[in-house]
Amino acid sequence: MARKKLIAGNWKMNGLLADGTELAKNVAAGVKALGKPQCEFLVCPPFTLLQAVKKALRGAKVALGAQDCHFAEKGAHTGDISPLMLKDLGCGYVILGHSERRADHGESNELVCKKAEAAHKAGLKTVICIGETLAQREAGKAVDVCREQILGSVPTDSTASDTVIAYEPVWAIGTGKVPTTADVEEVHAAVRKVLAKKLGKGNANKMRILYGGSVKPGNAKELLNLPDVDGALIGGASLKAEDFLGIAKNAGCC
Ligand code: PEP
Repeated sequence: MARKKLIAGNWKMNGLLADGTELAKNVAAGVKALGKPQCEFLVCPPFTLLQAVKKALRGAKVALGAQDCHFAEKGAHTGDISPLMLKDLGCGYVILGHSERRADHGESNELVCKKAEAAHKAGLKTVICIGETLAQREAGKAVDVCREQILGSVPTDSTASDTVIAYEPVWAIGTGKVPTTADVEEVHAAVRKVLAKKLGKGNANKMRILYGGSVKPGNAKELLNLPDVDGALIGGASLKAEDFLGIAKNAGCC
Protein backbone atom coordinates (compact mmCIF):
# COMPACT_ATOMS: atom_id res chain seq x y z
CA MET A 1 0.00 0.00 0.00
CA ALA A 2 1.71 3.19 -1.19
CA ARG A 3 1.32 6.06 1.25
CA LYS A 4 2.69 9.45 0.21
CA LYS A 5 5.13 10.64 2.85
CA LEU A 6 4.23 13.79 4.75
CA ILE A 7 7.05 16.09 5.84
CA ALA A 8 5.53 18.33 8.51
CA GLY A 9 7.10 21.20 10.42
CA ASN A 10 5.92 22.18 13.88
CA TRP A 11 7.32 25.64 14.53
CA LYS A 12 5.94 25.65 18.09
CA MET A 13 6.10 29.07 19.80
CA ASN A 14 8.78 30.44 17.50
CA GLY A 15 8.87 33.22 14.98
CA LEU A 16 8.01 36.88 14.72
CA LEU A 17 6.54 38.39 11.60
CA ALA A 18 9.83 39.08 9.82
CA ASP A 19 11.68 35.80 10.45
CA GLY A 20 8.54 33.65 10.20
CA THR A 21 7.73 35.13 6.80
CA GLU A 22 11.30 34.70 5.65
CA LEU A 23 11.31 31.05 6.76
CA ALA A 24 8.04 30.37 4.94
CA LYS A 25 9.36 32.03 1.77
CA ASN A 26 12.50 29.92 1.91
CA VAL A 27 10.49 26.73 2.44
CA ALA A 28 8.21 27.67 -0.47
CA ALA A 29 11.17 28.36 -2.77
CA GLY A 30 12.90 25.15 -1.69
CA VAL A 31 9.83 23.01 -2.30
CA LYS A 32 9.28 24.63 -5.70
CA ALA A 33 12.89 23.86 -6.59
CA LEU A 34 12.30 20.17 -5.88
CA GLY A 35 10.14 20.01 -9.01
CA LYS A 36 7.70 17.18 -8.49
CA PRO A 37 8.54 15.84 -5.05
CA GLN A 38 7.13 12.48 -4.04
CA CYS A 39 6.20 13.78 -0.59
CA GLU A 40 3.66 16.25 0.72
CA PHE A 41 4.74 19.20 2.84
CA LEU A 42 3.06 20.92 5.76
CA VAL A 43 4.12 23.80 8.00
CA CYS A 44 2.43 24.63 11.29
CA PRO A 45 3.44 28.09 12.52
CA PRO A 46 2.03 29.76 15.63
CA PHE A 47 -1.47 31.29 15.28
CA THR A 48 0.01 34.77 14.95
CA LEU A 49 1.85 33.88 11.75
CA LEU A 50 -0.80 31.87 9.93
CA GLN A 51 -1.93 34.74 7.74
CA ALA A 52 1.56 35.88 6.78
CA VAL A 53 2.81 32.34 6.19
CA LYS A 54 -0.19 31.57 4.01
CA LYS A 55 0.74 34.55 1.84
CA ALA A 56 4.40 33.57 1.73
CA LEU A 57 3.55 30.01 0.66
CA ARG A 58 1.37 31.11 -2.25
CA GLY A 59 2.03 29.01 -5.35
CA ALA A 60 4.04 26.37 -3.48
CA LYS A 61 2.72 22.90 -2.69
CA VAL A 62 3.01 23.33 1.06
CA ALA A 63 -0.07 22.92 3.24
CA LEU A 64 -0.74 25.20 6.18
CA GLY A 65 -1.64 23.92 9.64
CA ALA A 66 -2.14 25.13 13.19
CA GLN A 67 -0.80 23.61 16.39
CA ASP A 68 -4.03 23.30 18.35
CA CYS A 69 -7.69 24.26 18.36
CA HIS A 70 -10.71 24.30 20.67
CA PHE A 71 -13.55 21.82 20.20
CA ALA A 72 -16.29 24.45 20.06
CA GLU A 73 -17.24 26.27 16.87
CA LYS A 74 -17.39 29.63 18.66
CA GLY A 75 -18.36 31.18 21.96
CA ALA A 76 -17.08 32.20 25.37
CA HIS A 77 -13.60 30.62 25.33
CA THR A 78 -11.17 33.46 25.92
CA GLY A 79 -7.85 32.96 24.22
CA ASP A 80 -8.95 29.93 22.20
CA ILE A 81 -9.24 29.42 18.45
CA SER A 82 -11.93 27.30 16.81
CA PRO A 83 -11.45 24.82 13.98
CA LEU A 84 -13.77 26.92 11.81
CA MET A 85 -11.53 29.96 12.32
CA LEU A 86 -8.53 27.92 11.19
CA LYS A 87 -10.38 26.67 8.14
CA ASP A 88 -11.47 30.22 7.40
CA LEU A 89 -7.82 31.32 7.47
CA GLY A 90 -6.80 28.71 4.93
CA CYS A 91 -5.51 25.96 7.19
CA GLY A 92 -5.79 22.41 5.94
CA TYR A 93 -4.43 20.72 9.05
CA VAL A 94 -4.25 21.02 12.81
CA ILE A 95 -1.84 19.23 15.16
CA LEU A 96 -3.64 17.84 18.22
CA GLY A 97 -2.50 16.18 21.42
CA HIS A 98 1.15 17.14 21.13
CA SER A 99 2.97 15.95 24.25
CA GLU A 100 3.77 19.56 25.14
CA ARG A 101 0.05 20.33 25.23
CA ARG A 102 -0.71 17.11 27.10
CA ALA A 103 1.95 18.10 29.68
CA ASP A 104 1.62 21.91 29.83
CA HIS A 105 -2.17 22.09 29.51
CA GLY A 106 -3.21 18.77 31.00
CA GLU A 107 -4.86 17.65 27.77
CA SER A 108 -6.43 14.21 28.13
CA ASN A 109 -7.15 11.65 25.43
CA GLU A 110 -10.85 12.53 25.74
CA LEU A 111 -10.19 16.22 25.12
CA VAL A 112 -7.93 15.49 22.15
CA CYS A 113 -10.67 13.27 20.72
CA LYS A 114 -13.29 16.01 21.09
CA LYS A 115 -10.99 18.49 19.37
CA ALA A 116 -10.31 16.02 16.55
CA GLU A 117 -14.04 15.43 16.01
CA ALA A 118 -14.62 19.18 15.81
CA ALA A 119 -11.65 19.68 13.48
CA HIS A 120 -12.87 16.96 11.11
CA LYS A 121 -16.36 18.47 11.15
CA ALA A 122 -14.85 21.81 10.11
CA GLY A 123 -13.04 20.14 7.23
CA LEU A 124 -9.56 20.09 8.76
CA LYS A 125 -7.21 17.14 8.69
CA THR A 126 -5.71 16.25 12.04
CA VAL A 127 -2.21 15.19 13.03
CA ILE A 128 -2.86 13.36 16.30
CA CYS A 129 0.23 12.92 18.44
CA ILE A 130 0.99 9.99 20.71
CA GLY A 131 4.13 8.78 22.47
CA GLU A 132 5.56 7.46 25.69
CA THR A 133 7.69 9.15 28.33
CA LEU A 134 11.15 7.85 29.20
CA ALA A 135 9.84 6.20 32.37
CA GLN A 136 7.13 4.44 30.38
CA ARG A 137 9.65 3.22 27.80
CA GLU A 138 12.02 2.00 30.50
CA ALA A 139 9.13 0.14 32.09
CA GLY A 140 8.52 -1.61 28.75
CA LYS A 141 5.19 0.16 28.30
CA ALA A 142 5.77 2.14 25.07
CA VAL A 143 3.38 0.11 22.93
CA ASP A 144 0.71 -0.06 25.67
CA VAL A 145 0.80 3.72 26.15
CA CYS A 146 0.50 4.37 22.43
CA ARG A 147 -2.36 1.88 22.16
CA GLU A 148 -4.24 3.61 24.95
CA GLN A 149 -3.64 7.05 23.43
CA ILE A 150 -4.92 5.92 20.04
CA LEU A 151 -7.99 4.24 21.51
CA GLY A 152 -8.77 7.38 23.51
CA SER A 153 -7.67 10.22 21.21
CA VAL A 154 -8.65 9.14 17.71
CA PRO A 155 -12.35 9.54 16.85
CA THR A 156 -14.03 6.27 15.85
CA ASP A 157 -15.11 7.64 12.47
CA SER A 158 -11.63 8.87 11.51
CA THR A 159 -10.37 7.92 8.07
CA ALA A 160 -7.05 7.89 6.28
CA SER A 161 -8.20 11.03 4.45
CA ASP A 162 -8.76 13.14 7.55
CA THR A 163 -6.27 11.77 10.06
CA VAL A 164 -2.51 11.40 10.36
CA ILE A 165 -0.89 9.85 13.44
CA ALA A 166 2.44 11.16 14.75
CA TYR A 167 4.40 8.83 17.01
CA GLU A 168 6.67 11.06 19.08
CA PRO A 169 8.45 9.50 22.04
CA VAL A 170 8.39 12.34 24.59
CA TRP A 171 12.02 11.71 25.58
CA ALA A 172 13.16 12.16 21.96
CA ILE A 173 11.54 15.57 21.45
CA GLY A 174 14.13 18.33 21.30
CA THR A 175 16.75 16.18 23.03
CA GLY A 176 18.83 14.89 20.13
CA LYS A 177 18.04 11.34 21.32
CA VAL A 178 16.28 8.97 18.95
CA PRO A 179 15.01 5.44 19.45
CA THR A 180 16.68 2.64 17.55
CA THR A 181 15.19 1.90 14.15
CA ALA A 182 13.99 -1.42 15.57
CA ASP A 183 12.10 0.39 18.33
CA VAL A 184 10.54 2.84 15.87
CA GLU A 185 9.53 -0.03 13.63
CA GLU A 186 8.03 -1.97 16.52
CA VAL A 187 5.84 0.92 17.68
CA HIS A 188 4.74 1.93 14.18
CA ALA A 189 3.74 -1.63 13.32
CA ALA A 190 1.85 -1.92 16.62
CA VAL A 191 0.12 1.42 16.01
CA ARG A 192 -1.06 0.26 12.60
CA LYS A 193 -2.49 -2.90 14.17
CA VAL A 194 -4.41 -0.86 16.75
CA LEU A 195 -5.69 1.42 13.98
CA ALA A 196 -6.85 -1.63 12.02
CA LYS A 197 -8.85 -2.86 15.00
CA LYS A 198 -10.34 0.54 15.67
CA LEU A 199 -10.91 1.92 12.15
CA GLY A 200 -10.76 -1.13 9.90
CA LYS A 201 -7.91 -2.55 7.85
CA GLY A 202 -8.59 -0.34 4.82
CA ASN A 203 -8.17 2.87 6.78
CA ALA A 204 -5.23 1.57 8.77
CA ASN A 205 -3.32 0.54 5.65
CA LYS A 206 -3.81 3.95 4.09
CA MET A 207 -3.32 6.10 7.20
CA ARG A 208 0.00 7.88 7.51
CA ILE A 209 1.98 7.35 10.69
CA LEU A 210 4.73 9.94 11.09
CA TYR A 211 7.75 9.65 13.34
CA GLY A 212 8.71 12.71 15.39
CA GLY A 213 11.54 13.37 17.83
CA SER A 214 14.92 14.90 16.93
CA VAL A 215 14.60 14.21 13.20
CA LYS A 216 17.49 15.87 11.36
CA PRO A 217 18.89 15.64 7.84
CA GLY A 218 21.52 13.23 9.20
CA ASN A 219 19.09 10.62 10.54
CA ALA A 220 16.20 11.12 8.08
CA LYS A 221 17.28 8.42 5.66
CA GLU A 222 17.31 5.59 8.19
CA LEU A 223 14.24 6.70 10.15
CA LEU A 224 11.96 7.70 7.30
CA ASN A 225 12.49 4.67 5.13
CA LEU A 226 11.29 2.13 7.67
CA PRO A 227 8.27 0.12 6.45
CA ASP A 228 5.55 1.76 8.55
CA VAL A 229 7.02 5.26 8.77
CA ASP A 230 5.19 7.63 6.43
CA GLY A 231 6.97 10.89 7.06
CA ALA A 232 8.04 13.06 9.95
CA LEU A 233 6.78 15.67 12.36
CA ILE A 234 9.73 17.97 12.82
CA GLY A 235 10.24 20.57 15.53
CA GLY A 236 13.66 22.20 15.85
CA ALA A 237 14.92 21.31 12.38
CA SER A 238 11.81 22.81 10.75
CA LEU A 239 12.99 26.27 11.81
CA LYS A 240 15.73 26.20 9.17
CA ALA A 241 14.47 25.78 5.61
CA GLU A 242 17.73 24.10 4.63
CA ASP A 243 17.34 21.42 7.32
CA PHE A 244 13.62 20.94 6.71
CA LEU A 245 14.26 20.41 3.00
CA GLY A 246 17.39 18.37 3.71
CA ILE A 247 15.21 15.94 5.71
CA ALA A 248 12.84 15.62 2.75
CA LYS A 249 15.70 15.01 0.33
CA ASN A 250 17.35 12.41 2.54
CA ALA A 251 14.02 10.70 3.10
CA GLY A 252 13.85 10.13 -0.64
CA CYS A 253 11.24 12.73 -1.54
CA CYS A 254 13.11 13.76 -4.67
C1 PEP B 1 8.02 18.01 18.00
O1 PEP B 1 7.92 18.72 18.98
O2 PEP B 1 6.99 17.71 17.37
C2 PEP B 1 9.34 17.53 17.63
C3 PEP B 1 9.41 16.41 17.01
O3 PEP B 1 10.41 18.30 18.01
P1 PEP B 1 11.98 18.05 17.64
O4 PEP B 1 12.03 17.70 16.18
O5 PEP B 1 12.64 19.33 17.95
O6 PEP B 1 12.42 16.91 18.49
